[in-house]
Amino acid sequence: MIIDCHGHYTTAPAPHNDWREAQKAAFKTGEVPPLYPTLSDDEIRETLEKNQLRLLRERGADMTIFSPRASAMAHHVGDEAVSTAWARHNNNLIKRCVDLYPDVFIGVGMLPQSPGVPIENSIAELERCVNELGFVGCNLNPDPSGGHFSAPPLIDRSWYPFYEKMVELDVPAMVHVSGSCNPVFHATGAYYISADTTAFMQFIQGDLFGDFPELRFIIPHGGGAVPYHWGRYRGLADMLKQPPLDGHVMKNVWFDTCVYHQPGIDLLFEVIDLDNILFGSEMVGAVRGIDPETGHYFDDTKRYIDALDLTPAQRHQIYEGNARRVYPRLDAQLKERGL
Ligand SMILES: [Zn+2]
Repeated sequence: MIIDCHGHYTTAPAPHNDWREAQKAAFKTGEVPPLYPTLSDDEIRETLEKNQLRLLRERGADMTIFSPRASAMAHHVGDEAVSTAWARHNNNLIKRCVDLYPDVFIGVGMLPQSPGVPIENSIAELERCVNELGFVGCNLNPDPSGGHFSAPPLIDRSWYPFYEKMVELDVPAMVHVSGSCNPVFHATGAYYISADTTAFMQFIQGDLFGDFPELRFIIPHGGGAVPYHWGRYRGLADMLKQPPLDGHVMKNVWFDTCVYHQPGIDLLFEVIDLDNILFGSEMVGAVRGIDPETGHYFDDTKRYIDALDLTPAQRHQIYEGNARRVYPRLDAQLKERGL
């Protein structure tokens, strides 16, 4: 079985996105946003059949851990009430995708984060996602300000109440920023990769996993710049008198394979232990074009992994085994289905 740990509903029906625009406009003028539109199953099916389902079939993956469009979370827009309503509608929409294609999609939720608002306020939506919607994880935004990094680092105790709930519910979080409102950062080219790299360095600086040995994070986009600079991070851990990374960070952190060329995947697998890599494509997502050098889609990451010299057991680990360990609720749901 091939499980893609990183897919977003980037192709949601237009009325969903129109409602968001109306919500933002209403916030600006102080009016009440319109009612959320009724979306038919057919509308949802159409957006998935043409895109994610078609590409999954063409590329040969079985399941996607599916979450709302990350760049549209835009936690910096509006206020807490705006984020709460938007998160609920997005998560409900993901649940509908899962219900329509239960063999293909499994849900991961976005959180109603908002700049300056305590993370405790996101706990209720996490509980709803897990307990009511059957989701298996969440996307945690380390920078709800949208590019100004005004939130405390992820190792700060202000995040701890949320981590306690993650551990209690036994769900991991993907560290995932959203759109950038800072022109310095291109969202998917600079901001995403910076935030991934920054989160990893924060984990080195603290002792978060000493406090939460069960806490699990996925750092997407191949771990940002981390694998390429692995020597720097090992050296910094040493200089900062922190323990070696294998015990200090890498029992709790996984990188996905959203790296869009073969040499990058080669390096990821050479540097990072197989236990810490999850198959992912972020499809349909950040980079949608075809690589003129190969003639294949940049984000067809399965192709790069298939080209590696891995044993069948190692392949199984990357495509399925690691995901079932990191997402125990996914594992439980698959086992219930006899998988
Ligand atoms: Zn993503």
